[in-house]
Amino acid sequence: MQKVAILYDAGQAVLSTFDLDEVLQQILRIVRDYFHLENIAILLREEDREELYVRRHIGWDEGNEKLRVPFGTGIIGAAAREKRPIYAPDVTKDARYIESVRGTRSELAMPLLARDQVVGVLHCQSGNLNHFDAETIDLLMLFCTQASMALQNARLYSLERQRAAQLEAINAIAKQTTAVLDLKELLAKVCSLIQQAFPISHVSVLLKEEDEMVLRAHHGDLTPRIPEGGRLPARAGLWGRALATGKTVIENDVRIAPDYTGFFVETAARMCIPLVSFGNTLGVLVLDSAQMGAFNANDEQSLESVADICSNAIQNAHYVDRVRQLAYLDGLTGIFNRRFFELRITEEIERARRFNIGMAVIMVDIDQFKRLNDEFGHLLGDEVLRQVSSIFHQQLRKIDVVCRFGGEEFAILLSQTDPQHAFSVAEKLRRMVETWQFPGVPRPVTISAGTASFPDHGTTRDELVKAADAGLYAAKLAGRNRVLLAPLARKSATQG
Ligand code: GH3
Ligand code: MG
Ligand code: MG
Repeated sequence: MQKVAILYDAGQAVLSTFDLDEVLQQILRIVRDYFHLENIAILLREEDREELYVRRHIGWDEGNEKLRVPFGTGIIGAAAREKRPIYAPDVTKDARYIESVRGTRSELAMPLLARDQVVGVLHCQSGNLNHFDAETIDLLMLFCTQASMALQNARLYSLERQRAAQLEAINAIAKQTTAVLDLKELLAKVCSLIQQAFPISHVSVLLKEEDEMVLRAHHGDLTPRIPEGGRLPARAGLWGRALATGKTVIENDVRIAPDYTGFFVETAARMCIPLVSFGNTLGVLVLDSAQMGAFNANDEQSLESVADICSNAIQNAHYVDRVRQLAYLDGLTGIFNRRFFELRITEEIERARRFNIGMAVIMVDIDQFKRLNDEFGHLLGDEVLRQVSSIFHQQLRKIDVVCRFGGEEFAILLSQTDPQHAFSVAEKLRRMVETWQFPGVPRPVTISAGTASFPDHGTTRDELVKAADAGLYAAKLAGRNRVLLAPLARKSATQG
């Protein structure tokens, strides 16, 4: 009776803490000291599965810590399946015995139950035959009920704490992402916030771009196999499955997932959550862990909430990108507008000044455009504007900037260009337009242009535009369908 009292007190001590590791450590210590055992282990049940893993042990042989025991396998698995202590007084005579410590002669496995559910197994081994008598087993059972309660308390407590921390993290992510409208910055932030708040080794965002997936951002401890910006097929991998089904995919052991494709070296488990905003699938949030079995249903819910927040933030950033772009594009022709020209000319002048390279401005105006409208209608006039824009766009280099300055006027920025070259570029454009067959216009359409270069004709935006405009004006006066350089322009402008 005294033994029971002492053991009962020990059990109470175990119940006094909420820290799981401390609880487990205490259980093992008590069992070792009271029952004079050297080899003890506590196996816990894998969430939502009929499988146990070794959570803590004393005296086990190396390498056995990674042991996984399905319910029904071995003496441990039998205790879990049958929910009662299983005792093998002589392991050599028990077909269920699986060796985990060399020299074991007798073995006892006791289920840890919470509300009739198996939460784990306490496992004791001894080098003696018949080590456990009926009284010891009863005492251990008594202790196990207390240990189970302590385990359950610690688990609930840690779940609560984890949930509170995750809620806080979700809140922080929501707050911090709505303020970020730049997509790249947003994705980097999202990845690092998630990785900090959840027990995840690496967080990646794959965005759908033209039938492919692009690794737009990632953050974490694993070794990447592809660089940021790397492309992956949209239909492959677990992300492909998440995209196809629109549902979260969890593989807690990627080795046995037939459609797994890795882009980190150490990934052992992976969760893929589709990023969907207003019915629009944008991509997949990929969460990798170096730990097998890392993901459970609790994390899934929280992470799905995070993914929803991210989807909307990504969608918003897309909108902002688009609006930003629209703000600098001309609606009729699709080329840049005057606002963009004014932004870029300042940058180009600054660059020309710093690197001592030339730059030039060409101002273009379509000749007699009013007449063209009057003769063939406004709609055809619009089409001519679009085609002239497209001719300019095709004839110039990628680094040059073609803008619709207003009405039937265009402004062109040429970087790293001297006055002679600017003139010949403008001449080329003039000839191209003159010889172009505009459908529905049975006569040539012509343009006039004036060119001005930095620093010969001016060193500021206003000076250069004014000089090129003067050239254009002079070209009109001189009879149209021609290009004039700014110095000539000044002369003819004053003459005219
Ligand atoms: P000039 O050779 O001296 O340049 O003569 P112009 O007729 O081209 O010059 P003006 O500035 O008198 O007329 C420009 C015309 O361009 C007037 C306007 O109706 C027309 N225009 C301006 N914007 C558009 C547009 O978006 N579409 C169409 N179809 N016409 C436009
Ligand atoms: Mg005109
Ligand atoms: Mg005009």
